[in-house]
Amino acid sequence: MKKNFPVRMSAYVGRFAPSPSGPLHFGSLVAALGSVLEARRQHGAWLLRIEDVDTPRTVPGAADTILATLERYGFEWDGEIMWQSRRRDAYDAALARLRVDGHVFPCICTRREMADSTLARDGSRRYPGTCRAGLPPGSTPRAWRVKAEGVIRFDDAIQGPQTEDLARDIGDYVVYRADGQFAYQLAVVVDDAAQGVTHVVRGADLLGSTARQIQLQQLLGLRAPIYAHLPVATNAAGEKLSKQTLTRAIDDDPPARTLTTALAFLGQKPPAALAGASRTEVWKWALAHWRLENVPQVRQLAVSDSGWRAQ
Ligand code: GLU
Repeated sequence: MKKNFPVRMSAYVGRFAPSPSGPLHFGSLVAALGSVLEARRQHGAWLLRIEDVDTPRTVPGAADTILATLERYGFEWDGEIMWQSRRRDAYDAALARLRVDGHVFPCICTRREMADSTLARDGSRRYPGTCRAGLPPGSTPRAWRVKAEGVIRFDDAIQGPQTEDLARDIGDYVVYRADGQFAYQLAVVVDDAAQGVTHVVRGADLLGSTARQIQLQQLLGLRAPIYAHLPVATNAAGEKLSKQTLTRAIDDDPPARTLTTALAFLGQKPPAALAGASRTEVWKWALAHWRLENVPQVRQLAVSDSGWRAQ
C-alpha cells in the first residue's frame, strides 16, 4: 500500500528490491520486514523497487503477486514503485560513463571458453582476463566487463568488517551481458543512487556482491549506502529457503503468524501470543520493539518454526 511521507523525515532512506522471478517466500519476507522496521525506527522512508532488469528470468504476473502479498501482510511503502525494466536509459548512461573513463572492456568470451577458469569466491568462474588486452580485429563485443581492481573494505552493520580483493576474489565482472541485458550489479547501484538510498538492509546471500557494488559506486562517483546483511533463512538441513529450492509461497499463510515467525527469526523475541493476534497488533509490537542490534550476527540461520519447512 502506498503511503505518504510523514511530515518529519530524517535523512534515512531504506528500500526493498525483490526480483519478480517467483512469488514472495519466507526469505524475502524477512528482508522486507528487516528493511522496513529499521527504516521506520530511524524515522526514514522505505521505498520499493521491482528488480525486473533480468527480463529472461522475470515471471509474468510475479511482480503483481509480490505486491499483493506485501499489501496483505500490511507493508506500507513510500512514494512510487521503481521498475528496473523502465530504466534502460539510466543504465546505458552509466555504462557509457564507465566506457569513456576506461573502466570496462568489451568481451567476446563464451561460457564454454571460460569453463576451465578458476573459481571466484562466490562460486562463479573467475574471468581469466582473455579480452582485457583488446579484441581480435573484426570481432563483435558480446558483453562488457568491469576491470576488477583494488581491495574494497566496508563495515557491515550486522556482519561486521568485510574485505574483498576484487581481482583475486571475484575477477573482471560483467555489467552488460551478451544477451543484451544489464547485469544486476550495475542496475542496483544506479537505482540505489537514483532513489537516494542511504541504508541497504537485505539478505546475506548478497554480501558477496557488495564489494562489486561499492567499486561501481566509486567508479561512477556515487555515494555508497550503509549496508546491513540479515541472516538467510535455511531449513533444518541448512539449505537456503529460496525460489530455487521450491519453497512454497507465503501468499496464503496467515500474515500475523508468518510475521511473528519472521520477527523471531530476526532475534526480536516476540511473545508467543502474538502469532494469534491481529496483523495490526503484530505491526504495533514490531514497530515498538525492533532493534537491529538483536539480529543474530550470522550469515544463515535455520527457521525454528515447524510451519516453515521447505516443501
Ligand atoms: N533483487 C534482489 C533479490 O531479490 C535483491 C537485491 C538487493 O536487495 O540489493 O534477491
